[in-house]
Amino acid sequence: MSSTIVKIFSAKEPDEGQKKALLPVLTERYGSDISFEYIEEKDLTGGFRLEVGNDVYDYSRSTRLKQLTEKWMQSVRGMDGKGDIIPLLKEELESWTPEALAEQIGTVDSVGDGIATVVGLDQAEYGEILLFEGGVRGMTLNLSKEDGLGCVLFGDDTGVLENSKVRRTGKVAGVPVSDELLGRVVDALGYPIDDMGDIRPEKYLPIETPAPGIIERQGVHEPMETGLLSIDSMFPIGRGQRELIIGDRQTGKTAIAIDTIINQKGKNTVCIYVAIGQKASSVAQLTRMLENHGAMDYTVIVCASASDSAPLQYIAPYSGCAIGEYFMNRGRDVLIVYDDLSKHAVAYRALSLLLERSPGREAYPGDVFYLHSRLLERSACLSEANGGGSMTALPIVETQAGDVSAYIPTNIISITDGQIFLESNLFFSGQRPAVNVGLSVSRVGGAAQTKAMKKASGALRLELAQYREMEVFTQFASDLDDATQKQITYGKGLMQLLRQNQYSPLCHHRQVIVLVSAMAKLFVGIDIEKITEARDQLCEYFEHEQPHICERIDSEKDLDNGLRQDIIVAAGKFLGELCLH
Ligand code: ATP
Ligand code: MG
Repeated sequence: MSSTIVKIFSAKEPDEGQKKALLPVLTERYGSDISFEYIEEKDLTGGFRLEVGNDVYDYSRSTRLKQLTEKWMQSVRGMDGKGDIIPLLKEELESWTPEALAEQIGTVDSVGDGIATVVGLDQAEYGEILLFEGGVRGMTLNLSKEDGLGCVLFGDDTGVLENSKVRRTGKVAGVPVSDELLGRVVDALGYPIDDMGDIRPEKYLPIETPAPGIIERQGVHEPMETGLLSIDSMFPIGRGQRELIIGDRQTGKTAIAIDTIINQKGKNTVCIYVAIGQKASSVAQLTRMLENHGAMDYTVIVCASASDSAPLQYIAPYSGCAIGEYFMNRGRDVLIVYDDLSKHAVAYRALSLLLERSPGREAYPGDVFYLHSRLLERSACLSEANGGGSMTALPIVETQAGDVSAYIPTNIISITDGQIFLESNLFFSGQRPAVNVGLSVSRVGGAAQTKAMKKASGALRLELAQYREMEVFTQFASDLDDATQKQITYGKGLMQLLRQNQYSPLCHHRQVIVLVSAMAKLFVGIDIEKITEARDQLCEYFEHEQPHICERIDSEKDLDNGLRQDIIVAAGKFLGELCLH
């Protein structure tokens, strides 16, 4: 075996004594067979630098000064402007001992399309952040002995040159987290992009962490109300659940997620909206909308827009999830929206093809299922022993021409606890939100509803299913008997009641009142066009004239027969009068 060559860089050649002093540390790592090679470097006026293969030990004065400055900066930041800085710095200086920086340095073999191949970093880990000359950061995604490391770049690849140096950082990709994130718009790496100043991080969390295990969880038992009657009544979402919003483009998918965020006002929930591959202008508009409705105070927006590189779009949902976990692990309820995962899968496909992984079905790589399952598994309802926090996920998926059986949609449907299916035909006929009652489902079901909602919504789904069937059946029939006609009018009225404008969520007691009145057929006498107006007037009436009923619904969260009767009597009277006018 040939001996290990240790290169010594310094301004003056070290004498034998100095070399001897280095030996114990070096033999421990590289064996006893060591030979020194001296290389003169005039700029290194203080200290020296050692290079052994790809490992570098920097012991120069400038590096030590840099270390000290960094340490001081940390102390100054930690002080938060309070107290006297001088004694602290003195103390730091006295207790400070320089550390030799042990680094592995590799070289760029090839670069292009946001991907760099790096050789010489044998010990780099999967997902580790590498630092390129010029400051660009990248993340390792392919570890192959023969071809070197496949690394995706988070910045502009024009600054990365072949044969330039690459340093390991020893850190996996992470995001800075703290309470200051609330109300902010950040990029996929967690840095602010909203001109509102720096965010002081409390700590860094890795973007990829294992999902909580079974023991750490408890069953879903609390509702995550969307404020949309058509969803809360029939497809209730529970805190800790994953409910997919799926539909063609421009069918109101984002609108449902935004309404749900607005509906969390005053409910002590943290909301995170992850925008993947959308136009930056749409995200700006959406941020303004949330601001106008006072929802930004408890919301974080993570944005990897269409102009961002594929690697940033790829990590954005994981970063958002890590931010969510920060709040969940401190006992908070979190709602996270991934808008949308189809674009996420496309970004990952682009990356994989560039990394020369073999394409599978529809050119997606074989692990695309795992891509989303490991993300969505991190939503949870933690047990009381673990703080009792929760993270509810609303992933969004765009279908092509309503095809829910395409590759990505079927994958995600199988991972989630249910789906809200939005249909173009309904949307264009004015039925908004365009929820398809037949194809939507919530597998957590009643466990995620209050007793009051469960009792109030009763057979709504069944009635609508009957109406739909009858409507198809009688489409071409001209003379219908009275009973059928009545059933159809009733069904039409119910569909009308479920229409809801954007940004106008209905609170719990309003939904219960409307449902009880609807199931008691109190809206039957009202013109179809006036039903939504009558619904809103009814809610106003109850809040102003019957506040005790509203209070009872909200405090008891249950609906006994007495309360139901009270609602029916009051609503009957009000709607009856409305009919007469
Ligand atoms: P994309 O596929 O482009 O992401 P999307 O499915 O997310 O679209 P949205 O952007 O939410 O759809 O909505 C499309 C349009 O429909 C928007 O202009 C929105 O204002 C309108 N819209 C959505 N929901 C409603 C509603 N309940 N009432 C009235 N208009 C609505
Ligand atoms: Mg959208």
